[in-house]
Amino acid sequence: MQRITILGATGSIGVSTLDVLARHPERYSVYALSAHSRVEELAAQCERFRPVRAVVGSAAAAEQLGALLRAKGLRTEVEYGEQALCAIASAAEVDAVMAAIVGAAGLAPTLAAARAGKKVLLANKEALVMSGQLFMDAVHDSGAVLLPIDSEHNAIFQCLPHGYGRAPEAAGVAKVLLTASGGPFLARAVETLDAVTPEQACKHPNWVMGRKISVDSATMMNKGLEVIEAHWLFGAPADQIEVVIHPQSVIHSMVSYVDGSVLAQLGNPDMRTPIAHALAWPERIASGVDQLDLTRMGGLQFERPDFVRFPCLALAFDALRAGGTAPALLNAANEVAVQAFLEQRIGFRQIDRVIAHVMDAVPHGAASSIEAVMAQDAAARAAAQTYITGHAK
Ligand code: NDP
Ligand code: MG
Repeated sequence: MQRITILGATGSIGVSTLDVLARHPERYSVYALSAHSRVEELAAQCERFRPVRAVVGSAAAAEQLGALLRAKGLRTEVEYGEQALCAIASAAEVDAVMAAIVGAAGLAPTLAAARAGKKVLLANKEALVMSGQLFMDAVHDSGAVLLPIDSEHNAIFQCLPHGYGRAPEAAGVAKVLLTASGGPFLARAVETLDAVTPEQACKHPNWVMGRKISVDSATMMNKGLEVIEAHWLFGAPADQIEVVIHPQSVIHSMVSYVDGSVLAQLGNPDMRTPIAHALAWPERIASGVDQLDLTRMGGLQFERPDFVRFPCLALAFDALRAGGTAPALLNAANEVAVQAFLEQRIGFRQIDRVIAHVMDAVPHGAASSIEAVMAQDAAARAAAQTYITGHAK
């Protein structure tokens, strides 16, 4: 029986994870669940999955959750704040941690899980983008097992028979091919992008996801963050990572080898597949996802990404090549810009301008410690807010 902590249980990935766990009660039990402010959803999850501990974002939310749980006769211990998140991620009782908080807020608890040598199921790509080498060092030093949940990286992992731990050249890898749907605005006239609403940006053609990653998919910053994520996970330099637009999202990514072989992982676009893969690895378990029926597929298309239409993709490659804390700056500026767009303070095409401004205005340095990364994160957020205030709609 494996005991699981889910950081971000009330989100899109958290709910899909619980769906998979519920199919295998003989294999998994829930040790702890966290949410930020959606207390009623978390209370319902506690009633169903009976965790030992539950963590929320504030004292007020903890009080509310405690009252709801007492009314249901549950004895789940309720805590709040970052320290409590780190505690449920690193507790001795925990075998595996699903890191599914969105954004930089997930860094500390995800790192705590890595440092404690847990099996870390990584959905929270922003944590790895920010802290790259430091995070991978923590995994290496503690003997943690890091398994990617992001569908592309999970696919690449499955296409690397040697798994991690070998330099891409030694494994004969020529290129890592990251597929991208292109999001909801792949074919929309660029001049009309200024007028798109948050609702249009969040309406992804193939996936149902949280609002932040949905906007990232529309700008293709999501793919940019994934390029950086692939660099750290698989040790591939920027030049070895290629983005391929594939609007059907059936091939989740590929690895091409020096002998001309290309390995791909396919499946219906449903996050329960990579979640089940990572939970059970190296075994396989049912996920609830239907088998792919290739004969019902109209056809699969592929094209090169347009870096003019999607400047965020170019900015991410630039940040990866710049190294140090540049990816942390990129990530922080993006989080602030996406939030401002969702609150309709800036237009869609201002998102990349905010990020480009921050990358120019805030000097990046060495990512020598988590404190240095967090200081850069704070500086980038401040610069982004100032720019947004000066350029608001
Ligand atoms: P959601 O917005 O649906 O969920 C986010 C979760 O994090 C919720 O449980 C939320 O709590 C919690 N949370 C939000 N802010 C904070 C905070 N400041 N402190 C602590 N917890 C917080 O996001 P997704 O599930 O879509 O995405 C989660 C992560 O997984 C992201 O990093 C995303 O990039 C990655 N990912 C997601 C995919 C998807 O298909 N959704 C695919 C690949 C990667 P509350 O509900 O209370 O607000
Ligand atoms: Mg992805």
